[in-house]
Amino acid sequence: MPETHFTPESAAWSDWRSQMHHRITTVEQLRDWIHVTDQEEHAIQASAGRYRWSITPYYASLMDPDDPLCPIRQLAVPSLREFESFPSASVDPVGDTVHRKTNRVVHKYPDRIIVLVTGLCPVYCRHCTRKYHTMDAAGTYFETHEGTSWDEDFAYIAAHPEIRDVVLTGGDPLTYGDDRLEAIIARLRQIPHVEIIRIGSRCPVVLPQRITPELCTMLERYHPLWLNTHFNHPQEITPEAAAACDRLLQHGIVVQNQSVLLKGINDDLPTMRRLLTELLKIRVLPYYLYHCDNAVGISHFVTSLETGRELMRGLLGYITGFAVPQYVLTTPLGKIPLWEESLHRDSTGTWVENYEGETMYVNDLLLFDDKGQEQGGK
Ligand SMILES: *Cc1c(COP(=O)(O)O)cnc(C)c1O
Ligand code: SF4
Repeated sequence: MPETHFTPESAAWSDWRSQMHHRITTVEQLRDWIHVTDQEEHAIQASAGRYRWSITPYYASLMDPDDPLCPIRQLAVPSLREFESFPSASVDPVGDTVHRKTNRVVHKYPDRIIVLVTGLCPVYCRHCTRKYHTMDAAGTYFETHEGTSWDEDFAYIAAHPEIRDVVLTGGDPLTYGDDRLEAIIARLRQIPHVEIIRIGSRCPVVLPQRITPELCTMLERYHPLWLNTHFNHPQEITPEAAAACDRLLQHGIVVQNQSVLLKGINDDLPTMRRLLTELLKIRVLPYYLYHCDNAVGISHFVTSLETGRELMRGLLGYITGFAVPQYVLTTPLGKIPLWEESLHRDSTGTWVENYEGETMYVNDLLLFDDKGQEQGGK
């Protein structure tokens, strides 16, 4: 059997490092799982030196081999649509690079920060908004800086007593081994004003094998600790993913979910309802529904704001109250809840207002559909 043929029957399937080692990065490896279309093959070739891609064998095993529109496939296999030109798209639409205070610290809100731990992800989501991490073309930031000392980052946090909430994110911090991760968390815990630690990781979805009992036992020593993950479609909620979330919960780690509203994947009411209610069955709490940012290479996933607002109207009251996430737009001014009070339309255009009353215009792409027609709902 060739080395690349790593299957659920393989002895090492449940070992996360083996999953990482056997990640799919070539068309030939992908053919072990699906009938790769010509378009997919061209998109993979065009991705070289521009967009990263890799897929864990576990995540590939969830794909429909015959249906190119399979949501798991659209979320992970490069598409030619990533190369369509949208002049308004940006590598950093949410302004993280603007608010970066040290190598790894992004300080945008008064009392909390995100810490960019790594540029590595088990699966590079096609809709990833952090293109400044995962685009090869401009040379990613992390390739040159990931190895540098953390002293400056910890010194910044220690010198800012207003920081009470630290989000470890990336990339995916759980691509680090337990020891390396513990060194970071233990050092954070030495700073008295850091009240809570959050980990942002897609591992429960794309690499549930990573959530080992040993990892959970280690994390449990540093409570209060929360984990935010990223399920986008009910097909991602497998027995393996459910077991990974259960292990975290057994160790007192609350798991919350942040989905992205994606055209053709989850922008219809039945799919979104099923995603949210299935999450409750595995005791994962829906937290945010992000409007898809207009980042380079992902504009084809962007819906109109009205599509998202119409979807929210079909959720509130119809399903369990706490199954309904907050629908937000991430901007350089912070996350803006897309309710009526913060979304304004007048003769000058459409603009949003953040919690401090600061305003900005929203990009036209969020208001018009593919054909340039103004969208009035679905
Ligand atoms: C999302 C985010 C946070 C955390 O925000 P919450 O709304 O508390 O989840 C913190 N800093 C930055 C830069 C963020 O983008
Ligand atoms: S796991 Fe997060 S950072 Fe990594 S590619 Fe997906 S969305 Fe981007």
